[in-house]
Amino acid sequence: MYNSYTKYLKQRFGGRRMQKISVNGGFSCPNRDGRLGTGGCTFCNNQTFVPDYCVSDKSISQQVEEGIDFFKHKYTQQGYLVYFQSFTNTYAPFERLKTLYEEALSYEGVEGIVIGTRPDCVSDELLDYLEQKSKQCFVMIEYGIESVYDSTLQLINRGHDFQTAVDTIERTAGRGIDVGVHVILGLPCETKEMILHTAEEISKLPVTVVKLHQLQLIRGTKMEQQYLLHPEWFHFFDVEEYVDLVVDFLERLNPEIYVERFVSSSPKEFLLLPQWGLKNFEFTAKVEKRLKERNTYQGILFAGL
Ligand code: SF4
Repeated sequence: MYNSYTKYLKQRFGGRRMQKISVNGGFSCPNRDGRLGTGGCTFCNNQTFVPDYCVSDKSISQQVEEGIDFFKHKYTQQGYLVYFQSFTNTYAPFERLKTLYEEALSYEGVEGIVIGTRPDCVSDELLDYLEQKSKQCFVMIEYGIESVYDSTLQLINRGHDFQTAVDTIERTAGRGIDVGVHVILGLPCETKEMILHTAEEISKLPVTVVKLHQLQLIRGTKMEQQYLLHPEWFHFFDVEEYVDLVVDFLERLNPEIYVERFVSSSPKEFLLLPQWGLKNFEFTAKVEKRLKERNTYQGILFAGL
């Protein structure tokens, strides 16, 4: 058994299903445009996680409308959360950010926003505004922390350290705003012990939701070159091995933290390794089965705060 994000949303929204609609606000990223760096994180090819309806030459309203059109036939009784997903969605002057978020929230049927960003890119002015918004609707900021190890963060050219993530998560949660974190399992040079210790570090933080992804080697990224030069830095899990790793991770994770997903699926044309061919729900079913087989659950090894 684990604490699923679906359950969390149902609790927050009176048992109703919520559907995320991804939008592209036309943002850049300070790790790409030269403010912090130009190369970006070594694993990043932002093209791989943008749905077709989500392109930046369309307004937010257009993208939300097309997203709702796409999903509304699947379930009749559902609300919508607009997910600012592509690049760094807090990287613009405050007034522009406010305009885009308000545009999303004003669309009929939209009941909240989820903002994906970097932990070094959130001003107090923005957090103050989002604190007020979160009293009126659902607001979550999702931080890509990726690793809790500074050595890894340097190796993947992340451009910030772990302490920055800790401070920003505390500044955000301290204002009553929900915090999500995104972590990649299997980054170069991280051992299994290091990965499992990550669960313990995250468990100490005021985090509402965690999203786990397996490391994926994406065509055209800097990591592809790193892999060719230093294959010994990498270990790509097979499916069964990764299922067990996720279960081990869940065992150490604070049982009060919700888990949104365990894997990411980049499009085949971009993905070099690992080639699992599994959909998100198929992997989730495997984790649930393995939890039962091992007669274990989230937090069984959590030592408390
Ligand atoms: S992963 Fe995010 S922070 Fe890193 S380069 Fe890509 S968009 Fe920028």
